[in-house]
This record gives sequence, structure tokens and C-alpha cells, in this order.
Amino acid sequence: MLLALAASGCSALDAEQPVALAPEGEWTGRQIETLRQAARCWNLQFGTSLEVAPDVAWPQEVRLRFTDLVCVYAVARTSPSLPVRVDICPTRFFFSAASGNREPFLFATLLHELGHVLNIRRHAEGSLAIMASGEEKRDLSQIVPPGFADEDRRLFYDANPGFALDAPCAQVVVDRSLSPPVCACAR
Ligand SMILES: [Zn+2]
Repeated sequence: MLLALAASGCSALDAEQPVALAPEGEWTGRQIETLRQAARCWNLQFGTSLEVAPDVAWPQEVRLRFTDLVCVYAVARTSPSLPVRVDICPTRFFFSAASGNREPFLFATLLHELGHVLNIRRHAEGSLAIMASGEEKRDLSQIVPPGFADEDRRLFYDANPGFALDAPCAQVVVDRSLSPPVCACAR
């Protein structure tokens, strides 16, 4: 979740336009579904169109890949300059084999990195925010945030001034009992 950012003052992607998420290399079906669910959370909360591997070619594309290279200094890293890329430490390194299910951790990681894809360049102060820095150690039960914090919403709208799309949900909550976790509108 730590992010190394290239120096860049301007937005890389237009968050109001559709963004194709293209998994590169080896992804299991479960991992792609985890990415799809993480993307859906942002779409529900903000009205963005982050879509995994759409049939049609979209002008905006983000490539995501697992690579050992990033593990040395972060769980994942988003480089915001075009073409935007997300490098993720392979999930086998996330936890020891004893800890079992890695999907919640991958979900939380992807959820956070997609915020950087959507131009958020800063981290939240609150440890429960999606955009919290990974330095704030969470125990396993808190790995997946309960939803978007007020701070996450502020960071998104600050990072995308003039963003005018309607959000499908006023408040998104994450169902953490499912694997991968799934977002829904709060009632
Ligand atoms: Zn980050």
C-alpha cells in the first residue's frame, strides 16, 4: 500500500471517462474477480467507470501486474504517469502460508491502489480510510476497510476538481464476510 510517486503535478487520467483495467501476466480467475470487486467499490461511491478487461478498446487503460520487483519497498506501487501502471507484490509474499486466505489483503491493496489510479496522490490520516498509508499497521480483521471514509471522499474530489458524475450510492459499505469482499450501497 505504500506508494512511491513519480514527481507529477497534473492528473494522469480523466476520472470522468471510462478506464479499462488490464491485468497483465498471470492472474487467477479469483484475483481478477477481486480486482473487479475493488473497482466496483469506486464506481458505486463516485460514479467512475473502472472496468476490468472490457471487450471494446478504451482510450484510457491501466495495466496491472504482479512483480517481485515491487516487494522490496512496498506491497504495491502505482506510477501515475501515462501509461498508468500498477505493480503488485505477488500475493504469495503477503502472508505466511499459515494465514490462509489472501484475498482480503489483495482486495484491500487493489482498493487502495485504484484510488491512486484515480489521481489521489496523498494518503489519509485516519487508519480506517481506504487511502490510509500502509505504515499504519492494521491487524488482519481490519485489513479491509468498512467503506469510504469522509477523508477518502475529500481526497478524491480534491484530486479531481470539477468532477461532475453522479454517484450511484451516497455511502458504500464493504461486506467483509464475503471473499472477495463486495461493495454495496448502504441502506
Ligand atoms: Zn498509497
